Amino acid sequence: MLLPMLFKALMSGGFGGEFTYVVRGAEISCSQGSDPGVLNLPLSHGIYIKEQPVLNVADVIPLANVGRCGFCKMDGALCEPDTFFNKWSQGKEDVLVEGEAALLSRSELICRKGGIIKIEVDGQL
Ligand SMILES: [Zn+2]
Repeated sequence: MLLPMLFKALMSGGFGGEFTYVVRGAEISCSQGSDPGVLNLPLSHGIYIKEQPVLNVADVIPLANVGRCGFCKMDGALCEPDTFFNKWSQGKEDVLVEGEAALLSRSELICRKGGIIKIEVDGQL
């Protein structure tokens, strides 16, 4: 397969070591959430780093992708991302994972109550 090979080449090139690709099992936190959460990916996009599937900026579905960050400090409701026309910000636009920008450790997502969900640990082994 050409694409995974190309992807691997891009990976090994890196980009200054500033940001990394995010894989299944990454740890997240919400600025308004009570607990850390985990990123899931029930169905792989077909791109892997060390056998761990890479996420893209459209992986925003509550629970299926974005594990709950506990309860919201604002109103005590469950902390969930706002997925209405919303994707993770600042993905790697020139590295597509199944048609969407690859998710990067710098990416952020808006929470329903206005909190900011950030990636704490990229999940790579
Ligand atoms: Zn939240």
